[in-house]
Amino acid sequence: MEKMKTKIGQRFEGKVAIVTASTQGIGFSIAERLGLEGASVVVSSRRQKNVDEAVEKLKARGIEVYGVVCHVSNSEQRKNLIDKTVQKYGKIDVVVSNAAANPSVDNILETKESVLDKLWEINVKSAILVLQDAAPHMQKGSSVVLISSITGYLPQASMAMYGVTKTALLGLTKALAAEMAPDTRVNCIAPGFVPTHFADFITSNPTVRKAVEEKTLLNRLGTTEDMAAATAFLASNDAAYITGETLVVAGGIPSRL
Ligand code: NAP
Repeated sequence: MEKMKTKIGQRFEGKVAIVTASTQGIGFSIAERLGLEGASVVVSSRRQKNVDEAVEKLKARGIEVYGVVCHVSNSEQRKNLIDKTVQKYGKIDVVVSNAAANPSVDNILETKESVLDKLWEINVKSAILVLQDAAPHMQKGSSVVLISSITGYLPQASMAMYGVTKTALLGLTKALAAEMAPDTRVNCIAPGFVPTHFADFITSNPTVRKAVEEKTLLNRLGTTEDMAAATAFLASNDAAYITGETLVVAGGIPSRL
């Protein structure tokens, strides 16, 4: 693929952005994009080493960045993420809820209860709880972006229950948009397939990868930068009249419910 040269704007000058699960993959690229556009970004994930490495990489790109360890299902760590952000930067303008788990490839009817609990807890409940902590600090004109998935529209075998939790985020987007209006907009992106660690079990198998590429109209997998660009758009004032919407970023893979 020819790398497109995009002139990066400065839409987030003076803004403070938190991105969960942002030390690699899509979350990292989102943090990088928001930072390159002028935001002070707070990156987080479960492991201190990953947080430190991400902070160093972003600093090297001239980004104002702060790192906090936060496993999204740990209430103390969630509270600490918000408290540290507010202590350091005084406010929150953007929250991107990006953390997810896909612990099982079982059919739904064979999925253990403990796995069902984990899927709901990380993919849905933690997103809500992060926002409960963040909301009191969010500014007028602030914005939330939830990261769903194309599988939210069409839960596929091997990712069916994961897909159902991602469908829930489409409803959560609508519900929170109403609840947080008019001061905060709430939108969502539904990525197609992106070769990250998370999607390795699909994208590293050449046959499966080819089948996925062929499902797109653009004949390629997505990139983390594609997802970051769409997220930055929704989080920015360019999307000032958009709330409660999900933007599918999947190269044309069909996405009707
Ligand atoms: P990834 O490259 O594997 O990165 C996952 C990141 O999340 C890492 O920084 C990891 O760091 C962190 N993390 C994992 N569990 C966490 C937890 N419980 N709490 C906090 N941080 C956690 O994954 P990705 O592909 O970018 O996925 C990001 C989001 O995109 C997910 O919501 C996923 O569902 C969605 N998505 C991905 C694809 C795709 O094809 N890749 C498609 C559709 C949607 P630590 O290990 O240090 O915690």
